[in-house]
Amino acid sequence: MKSELVKKKVKKIRINLDKCIGCRACELACSAIHAKPKYSSINPARSRIRVVIDNFNDAYVPIIAADYSKAACVGRNDYTINGKTYSECSFCGASCPSRELFREPDSGLPLKCDLCESESGPMCVKVCTANALVYEEREVEVKEEVKYKVKELSDMELGLRSLVDRYGSQKIVDSIVRMTQKAR
Ligand code: SF4
Ligand code: SF4
Repeated sequence: MKSELVKKKVKKIRINLDKCIGCRACELACSAIHAKPKYSSINPARSRIRVVIDNFNDAYVPIIAADYSKAACVGRNDYTINGKTYSECSFCGASCPSRELFREPDSGLPLKCDLCESESGPMCVKVCTANALVYEEREVEVKEEVKYKVKELSDMELGLRSLVDRYGSQKIVDSIVRMTQKAR
């Protein structure tokens, strides 16, 4: 199958760890906007962004909820930041069977960032006065498979094609020549 380059818009939130002060306003805003009814409650367990906080080392890492994973991954590494060791899961955005993070507390359903599509832009970015979260949109070119539409054949072309398949094109041409000569 052939492919062609198409332009797509990519939306993302860029996280600047150097600026995050660990205030957790992003968690509160996200949980409030996703409460039912909207803004009726604040519960960080419902937030699609969670901040891993190490107060001792002044390290704050906002993690944004990504796709649900049916299976827990098997290869796990540890990260050492400022002398403190974190498991790989600490910085993973997936909701997966091996932990409770990014799960709706009442139903257990996985949570995923929707970029606040129903609002006028990501709420977490709006409330982050430290500018640790920056919303970005950019166009990228991606390869996409193209399905070429088969040209619809007319009834006459379909009939000719079946005759050619049956007798061969030369016999069909000879017959047409004979018929046109007789008609003169
Ligand atoms: S609102 Fe901004 S500064 Fe505060 S915890 Fe979230 S990302 Fe960090
Ligand atoms: S963009 Fe919206 S849904 Fe995603 S983490 Fe921020 S507030 Fe939550």
